[in-house]
Amino acid sequence: MRTYANAYMLEPGRCFRLVENDRNSDQPMACPNLVVIRGQWRDGAGTLRLVEACAEHGAELEVRRPADQGTATEATGSRREPRRAGR
Ligand SMILES: [Zn+2]
Repeated sequence: MRTYANAYMLEPGRCFRLVENDRNSDQPMACPNLVVIRGQWRDGAGTLRLVEACAEHGAELEVRRPADQGTATEATGSRREPRRAGR
């Protein structure tokens, strides 16, 4: 998906990038991909922005962390108490 110039928007739950519209190339549209990552991205003016992004546009971020941090790790593991060695 081609990005539209260096355009972006900041809207919770949406990828920050604007992409080229297939039907009308003069008008950008919001990236329709699912948000999977949050992080910091530097805009054209050099300002660090806190953004949410899809997997594709997440590659542009300077600092990244999973969008659903906290739930992913909890779901994966059965945590076991260390067992005491018997005497
Ligand atoms: Zn995107």
